[in-house]
Amino acid sequence: MSMGQIIDGKALSAAIKDEVRAQIPALEQKYGRRPCLCVIIVGENPASQVYVRNKVRAAEYVGIDSLKIELPADISEEALLDRIAALNADPGVDGILVQLPLPKHIDEEKVIDAIACEKDVDGFHPANVAGLWLGKDCIVPCTPAGILRLIDSTGVSLSGKEAVVVGRSNIVGKPVAKLLLDRNATVTIAHSRTADLKEVCARADVLVVAVGKAGLITGDMVKPGAVVIDVGMNRNAEGLLCGDVDFASCVDKASWITPVPGGVGPMTIAMLMVNTLRCFASK
Ligand code: NDP
Repeated sequence: MSMGQIIDGKALSAAIKDEVRAQIPALEQKYGRRPCLCVIIVGENPASQVYVRNKVRAAEYVGIDSLKIELPADISEEALLDRIAALNADPGVDGILVQLPLPKHIDEEKVIDAIACEKDVDGFHPANVAGLWLGKDCIVPCTPAGILRLIDSTGVSLSGKEAVVVGRSNIVGKPVAKLLLDRNATVTIAHSRTADLKEVCARADVLVVAVGKAGLITGDMVKPGAVVIDVGMNRNAEGLLCGDVDFASCVDKASWITPVPGGVGPMTIAMLMVNTLRCFASK
């Protein structure tokens, strides 16, 4: 079996950001201002700090104004909801993103529900989730949207293929499964109670793994020629970023495979720029 080709998420992300960047001048003309993305970060979670920094940096690159609101970890839920209400009402703000996770005393669901659905650039609001499942034109969560773009970049068609998604979270597993279903893949969602994960994964023409366990997927679980998308972001013993897929044993089985880093991660940020542009331009 020849070696699988690596899907370059970094390059694809750069191309998508350039597409967004190219559209901004005309829209700025039309609306008399640039799009504005507001990113709220509560507390000092170091991983969240890195994600927010990368989002702000991407916005700057494409020509989206960003408003970073840093709030103390002990802010009350009520005060946070008030800030969101003010941003909802601000016509100069197009997108609102609250970086998760939030401190334990704040109900994440309440916070997500409070974001105006037309400014919900993460696509987590119940109105957008319902829209996705009902097949309406709505804001699609960034990571799942990015995963579809990565698969599309291989030229592999999804129609009629067996797609297996490992993980069933609201932010990755479930929405990506729906997007694959929309492309006429036959979709299986596996999770921690799946009886025989190896057998289920080995059926997959397209395998998407979003679990958060380094090395969960090994070469013996991959069907020869499969497209493998690794969403996981874990730190290994040396502190290096690694995915859920054991790249070394899977790369020779797959036809295409995403690396970590440089696969799904950069795509999430590119799709955030796409979503922000959409919120701005749909006024
Ligand atoms: P969650 O923790 O919310 O969900 C993990 C899922 O994996 C659950 O559905 C769980 O099953 C399932 N699971 C856990 N253990 C196993 C197992 N042994 N076998 C099969 N399934 C298992 O994670 P997220 O979806 O939020 O994130 C998943 C990973 O993706 C993380 O590493 C995260 O950091 C990364 N991520 C990366 C992003 C990016 O931009 N690159 C964006 C978002 C996430 P059950 O439901 O039964 O508990």
